[in-house]
Amino acid sequence: MDCIFCKIVNKQAPADIVYENDKIIAFKDVNPKAPVHLLIIPKKHILSIDHIEIQDKTLMGEIILTAQKIARERNLTGYRLVINVGREGGQVIDHLHLHLLSGKPIKLP
Ligand code: AMP
Ligand code: ZN
Repeated sequence: MDCIFCKIVNKQAPADIVYENDKIIAFKDVNPKAPVHLLIIPKKHILSIDHIEIQDKTLMGEIILTAQKIARERNLTGYRLVINVGREGGQVIDHLHLHLLSGKPIKLP
């Protein structure tokens, strides 16, 4: 499968990894939109939020808890979590990812 985020998971593509466990990996966004811009992803290839299933609910909770853990470790007092879904929702990479943004006011529509 030609998925850049799966390649990052499998260490076949470079990334600045900031956290990793058996199910989740977090790395710096290559084109940051804020001073802190990380992507937190499941290691398992899930296309988008529109493709999660009931058995993924623990994993989805762990992804959010990972964002909280990273934010606490970095003493981020405020941050924004964003998940784009589908092309019209701004999703460009078809491997589910949670954006963690912090460090400046981020304007969303
Ligand atoms: P989205 O628009 O929600 O699909 O966001 C995709 C994000 O992935 C963008 O913010 C990109 O800058 C980022 N991105 C794309 N390729 C890479 C990569 N190889 N390593 C790190 N971040 C990436
Ligand atoms: Zn993938």
